[in-house]
Amino acid sequence: MPEKMLAMVLSELGPVESNPLKLTEIDRHKIEKPNEILIKIEACGVCHSQLHGIEGDWKELGIPPTLPTVPGHEVVGIIKEIGDDVTKFRIGDRVGITPLMGACLNCQYCNDGKEYLCEKMEVTGESLKGGYTEYITVSEDFATKVPQSMKPEYAAPLFCAGITAYKAVKAAEPRKNKKIVIFGIGGVGHMAIQFAKVEGCEVTAVSRKQKHLDVAKKLGADNTFVYRAEQEVFLNELIQNYGLFDAAIVFAPVDEVTDTAIKSVKKGGTIVIATVGKIPNFLAFEEKTVRGTLIGSRKDMQDVIEISEKHDIHVITETFPLKQANDVLQKLKNSEIEARAVLIP
Ligand SMILES: [Zn+2]
Ligand SMILES: [Zn+2]
Repeated sequence: MPEKMLAMVLSELGPVESNPLKLTEIDRHKIEKPNEILIKIEACGVCHSQLHGIEGDWKELGIPPTLPTVPGHEVVGIIKEIGDDVTKFRIGDRVGITPLMGACLNCQYCNDGKEYLCEKMEVTGESLKGGYTEYITVSEDFATKVPQSMKPEYAAPLFCAGITAYKAVKAAEPRKNKKIVIFGIGGVGHMAIQFAKVEGCEVTAVSRKQKHLDVAKKLGADNTFVYRAEQEVFLNELIQNYGLFDAAIVFAPVDEVTDTAIKSVKKGGTIVIATVGKIPNFLAFEEKTVRGTLIGSRKDMQDVIEISEKHDIHVITETFPLKQANDVLQKLKNSEIEARAVLIP
């Protein structure tokens, strides 16, 4: 086992055009607790949140909390070593890690199966333990088994985009023939369409780009609709064609889109916000529910893997070598990535 590993290290925040990630040789992570596993990373997805974190947009939210860091929180790889107390896994198993790499497992949130809300949660990729490298260690409690038949570049995006999409659909309380509209069809939205279809919902996809809607249609969306900034025109057309919806899910990080989503659901309906932003013009009289959602639990992650395998969920990816991480982030910033970019070390 090598003593060192190559990592894309972030030491100073800055625009991705300035190549803030530097390919650096750092000490390889080693098993430090008896319940930990050592993973050789095969693939790591590139999430929009890395773009915001690296460029300093989320500095006031405390992200990243310290520097230097190794970003990346959609990690899949093969177990190379296990600690003495590990019982869930064996050497050679393929596993993945979500943005949640630790929690106390002892507080009210953790006991309720909402460990992603734990005050003591540890986040993947906000210390030197991130996915833009060759090795990572994690407690066996926070790794999820990936079937050997599932390709790593397919599985990696399930660990943030996939679980986020799944949890957002769950928050919309899906059931057969429920009319759900999804705003924003990218890395997360394209999976949400499919999870909602698995539940039997009638799904309408909304995006600024026709090519995203063509993808949505292929993935099973019943209806597609081009987003327009003129809200009144857009809502009139939407209502004339489809009527109001039972629920809306918002993945586009734009406050006007959230406002439009609130107006496109029926009285008493639900609006799920899976993005960072404000909630404009909320009218209490209509008895609508606005719900936030954030990744998901370890149980949700297992469900995502099972459903994706059983229903052959399509994950649209493009792969790049690890050392091209800066270029990939620039492409992401310029909307040149179709669904999900995945780095291969
Ligand atoms: Zn993410
Ligand atoms: Zn806890």
